[in-house]
Amino acid sequence: MSESPQQHYAKATTRQTGSSEAREQLVDWLRDAHAAEEQSEKMLTKFAGRIENYPELKSQIQRHIEETRGQARRLKQCLDRYGDTTSTLKDAFGRMMAFAQGMSGAFVDDEIIKGSMAAYTFEHMEIASYRILIAAAESLGDTETRNICEQILEEEIAMATWLEEHLPEITQKYMLRTDMPGVTAKH
Ligand code: MG
Ligand code: FE
Repeated sequence: MSESPQQHYAKATTRQTGSSEAREQLVDWLRDAHAAEEQSEKMLTKFAGRIENYPELKSQIQRHIEETRGQARRLKQCLDRYGDTTSTLKDAFGRMMAFAQGMSGAFVDDEIIKGSMAAYTFEHMEIASYRILIAAAESLGDTETRNICEQILEEEIAMATWLEEHLPEITQKYMLRTDMPGVTAKH
């Protein structure tokens, strides 16, 4: 359905005054993303701390923990510009993350595999959420948020790509170590 120029102008004006529902939606999504980064930092720190025999994975995760902290900081800046002070996890998103976290459970024999799988899944959830944020920010004319989310998206894609490229060798190393007597395979 098309709208008249007057209707369109009225909408655009509402957007710029900062009181539209669309704007509140963007803030909600930014809040979700911020909470997810804080969660991600905790999850990755726990995982990296347990890895003993997969040094490449460990240092890649440590690099991404640093990036993740920077991401949370940049998202906080976006939220601050909207005067938002809360950081609560939304139900649906929280459940998705609980799922990813559940997979990274430290009490399974194939911990390194489940943790890598969880990290890979998590990165793709992040990629989806930044693609959505970029489009939403763009539709509201919020160039700063769009730019920040584009930078973050690049970092998430790089991490997802690294995992994609290394999952086979991590798995093969795990398989090999599993059959070696007196050697730990799980982490
Ligand atoms: Mg992230
Ligand atoms: Fe990430």
